[in-house]
Amino acid sequence: MGVVSIEKCPDYNIDTVTRAIEKSFERLGGVEKYIKPGMKVLIKPNLVMKKKPQDAATTHPSVVQAVSSIVQKAGGKVIIADSPGGLFTPKALNGIYHVCGIEKAAQESGATLNFDFSESEVDNPQGKYLKKVTILKCIADADVIINIPKLKTHGQMVYTGAVKNMFGAVHGVLKAEYHLRMPDYSEFANAIIDIFLSAKPVLNIMDAVIGMEGAGPTAGDPKHIGLILAAENAFELDYTALSVIGKNPLDVPVIREAVDRGLLNGEENIKITGEELNKVLVKDFNIPQIDNLRAVQFFNRGLLKIFVNLMKPRPDFIYEQCVGCLECQKNCPANVIKVDNKKPLVELEKCIRCYCCQELCPAKAIRIKRPFLAELVLKLSRILKKYK
Ligand code: SF4
Ligand code: SF4
Repeated sequence: MGVVSIEKCPDYNIDTVTRAIEKSFERLGGVEKYIKPGMKVLIKPNLVMKKKPQDAATTHPSVVQAVSSIVQKAGGKVIIADSPGGLFTPKALNGIYHVCGIEKAAQESGATLNFDFSESEVDNPQGKYLKKVTILKCIADADVIINIPKLKTHGQMVYTGAVKNMFGAVHGVLKAEYHLRMPDYSEFANAIIDIFLSAKPVLNIMDAVIGMEGAGPTAGDPKHIGLILAAENAFELDYTALSVIGKNPLDVPVIREAVDRGLLNGEENIKITGEELNKVLVKDFNIPQIDNLRAVQFFNRGLLKIFVNLMKPRPDFIYEQCVGCLECQKNCPANVIKVDNKKPLVELEKCIRCYCCQELCPAKAIRIKRPFLAELVLKLSRILKKYK
């Protein structure tokens, strides 16, 4: 039976976070269980884009610093690495480390920031679609990987936590290729699982102090949760995190596919340690993406299938907020964003609904809009539920 530790952590004061993470390590068997002196330990935060810590889009620097300090104290040599969205160049990475507060976290804890852009192909025998995966060399070469995700909503995948965070083990160009090759929810969820399995983090420590609800993973609203969650099994950690925010984990494609693949056996096989789950539940955590997916699933059967694409929410530009940076166009895997009179426009019939444009827009100028018909289906299903 897998163990998930739930620890209260009301704020990002470094002493508070360090205490919570030390306790999490203790509950899982002690830091020595994972770290031996001299080990090369890679810490993988979520650094999706250049965002300030208070935006709640990236793993908070206090969490990165605390994990790094604890590991260094145990004799590990820490490297902090991620392949964020957008350009993966020394300049872009430097800006992200700086603005996200990770540069300072590394200095304070004596860690090294990764600037090695080389890749390695690794075998992935457990992979469903990806039996070999090309990941960052620093990740392939590490003795131990500690995954430190942030709890957030996600445009395409509904939720991003521990499993999805390891998608950052692959280079940006390859990420775009996976989006293109596997636009279907279930296929892409399986690709994410495959990539996670190829990277093999031994421990997952989640920043759920302040998560992100609404239009995640970068344009949503910060939501206080007040917890650090930790587990060896990332699937069980995500299952527990979704339960904390009051959602059915099986509504999330990655979790559903993980159950199908026998990587997760449900809550009866998860032992919670630390805080009791029912005492830390968060009410009204807003994940609009669950409804989006429900509407799509309603049409994903029989003859109705021809309407599936029409049911998928589409990217919609808010031109008053657009600053004309064209990051959306540069990062569209399907290359379907054109510019007319300095305004980005999407060829919707060719759009694969990956929402990379929304994720990487620095001005929150793209929203994910549900089609009218999908809205109608959801309203009807709510009414029907009421009278059942
Ligand atoms: S990324 Fe956002 S701000 Fe930049 S051009 Fe596209 S919509 Fe406008
Ligand atoms: S327009 Fe946006 S949602 Fe559509 S394929 Fe391009 S990045 Fe993905």
